[in-house]
Amino acid sequence: MSASASITVTDIDRLLPQTQCGKCGHPGCRPYAEAIAEGEAINRCPPGGDETVAELATLLERPALPLEMDAESPKAAVIREDECIGCTKCIQACPVDAILGAAKQMHTVIEAECTGCELCVAPCPVDCIDIVPHPGWQATRDAREQKDWLARRAELGRRRFENRNARLERQRQEKDARRRARMQARQQPAEQMDQAAPVASTSTPSTPAPTGNTRARKAALSATVRRLEKRLTAAPDDADTQASLKHARQQLADLQTQGEASAASTDARDIAPSSSLNSLRIARSAAKQRLALANRQLAHARRQGGPEDIEAAQAQIQRAEKTWQDACQALDNAERH
Ligand code: SF4
Ligand code: SF4
Ligand code: SF4
Repeated sequence: MSASASITVTDIDRLLPQTQCGKCGHPGCRPYAEAIAEGEAINRCPPGGDETVAELATLLERPALPLEMDAESPKAAVIREDECIGCTKCIQACPVDAILGAAKQMHTVIEAECTGCELCVAPCPVDCIDIVPHPGWQATRDAREQKDWLARRAELGRRRFENRNARLERQRQEKDARRRARMQARQQPAEQMDQAAPVASTSTPSTPAPTGNTRARKAALSATVRRLEKRLTAAPDDADTQASLKHARQQLADLQTQGEASAASTDARDIAPSSSLNSLRIARSAAKQRLALANRQLAHARRQGGPEDIEAAQAQIQRAEKTWQDACQALDNAERH
């Protein structure tokens, strides 16, 4: 049976004790309230006891079933501090941040903030946490004080649980941002390589790779001139193509002149072709490694990352493939000349 439309999850959550212990089978009181609103049984909260079942039954107009487990009275955790080894596992487990301590330092429970959920007990590797009747509860003198005390504890427990969840979410986002920044930083050197590598498949004659590798630039420009000449054969009146071709031929001629001047100023041994081919081979090898790395990063993102990591890795693969194709093309062209 579902809660009436006028009853909200917040109305239900307000009746739960906010111990955040998970004994109902949900990771906190609010998730259990959401489940109750969807029709889950109302008798699964031991810290709330029969009173909570009765209040939920009245609110939701459902039968007040007997509790599934024994009711529990308010408790608190106490750390035997001289036995604590400062491993911080209890801090990580506490749903309301009620434990103080630092790595390798003694830890202590803030009694007023402890809901007695017992979640810190199991992770403690030296079993130095005791669960005791809550001193605040024990100090109450009558039913009215008990009711007030439970209401205060519930309010504090809810607030601290929400604050902790907000903090964890914030930390998760910061971690994601750091991971993205690391991935970008890893991509940058590869992108710099893109810019440094000679690229033969330039779309305009003004963009052959600006490197000191004259032979590769010549190969790229020659390929561009041939492509433009072909285009001009199909469309002889295309003014843009004519201008581009003129520009590319001019660049090629300049390069030729530079090469001749350089050759004239050195002795007859011309070591440039082999060194430029070596550079192109190194660039191709680097592009291949980058592609392999990008594929590994994608596999890692699929195993452990989120959608954003996968998207970033896929984009990186596309860039790496383009670099690889360009590097292969540049080497082919250079080897042909
Ligand atoms: S106090 Fe524990 S058992 Fe009760 S609703 Fe909250 S998390 Fe569930
Ligand atoms: S100190 Fe332990 S018992 Fe107390 S709220 Fe934190 S985890 Fe629960
Ligand atoms: S889990 Fe136990 S040993 Fe580790 S810090 Fe907490 S109390 Fe100390």
